[in-house]
Amino acid sequence: MTSAKDLKQRSNNQCELCSATEDLSVYDIPNAKEKVIYACNNCIAQMEDSEKIDPNHWRCLNDSMWSEYDAVKIMAWRMLNRVNQPWAEDMLAMMYLEDETLELAKAAGDGEADENQIIHRDVNGVVLDTGDSVVLVKDLKVKGSSMVAKQGTAVRNIRLDRENSEYIEGKVDGQHIVIITKYVKKL
Ligand SMILES: [Zn+2]
Repeated sequence: MTSAKDLKQRSNNQCELCSATEDLSVYDIPNAKEKVIYACNNCIAQMEDSEKIDPNHWRCLNDSMWSEYDAVKIMAWRMLNRVNQPWAEDMLAMMYLEDETLELAKAAGDGEADENQIIHRDVNGVVLDTGDSVVLVKDLKVKGSSMVAKQGTAVRNIRLDRENSEYIEGKVDGQHIVIITKYVKKL
């Protein structure tokens, strides 16, 4: 395990998640093979009790998710899943974790589908995820423009409409458009 002294040094005496400089202590990440981070009481309280989560506090992960340390990345990944905000989804989509690190990040059950989650499915009933690529299965008129998105057009890096399982979003010809899920096929 990394010692408290090592942690203080690598973190520059700051919370490795939000950069706070007070009330810091070593936080032993649950289910992460004894990985530890140096964190402030505020972060720790919210990591330990999801009911205490203040989503805006976790915008700090915008910086710390790029940490060079796996332990920080694991905790950032878990908290981004827990805050359940569209901006956190975007950050998760940008985040890159090695397979082994991702396994550890998932070990506490974060990021798994819960019952209330809206599931998006393509024309064949295949589940769509943020970041997937799809192809249009018919010509689609783009609302509010004269553009027609042609059948066979690939749309990469889609986003899911959090409220409605029938809509996804993506870019066609540089234009951000909303697409109905039954007119796409996952690539
Ligand atoms: Zn903190």
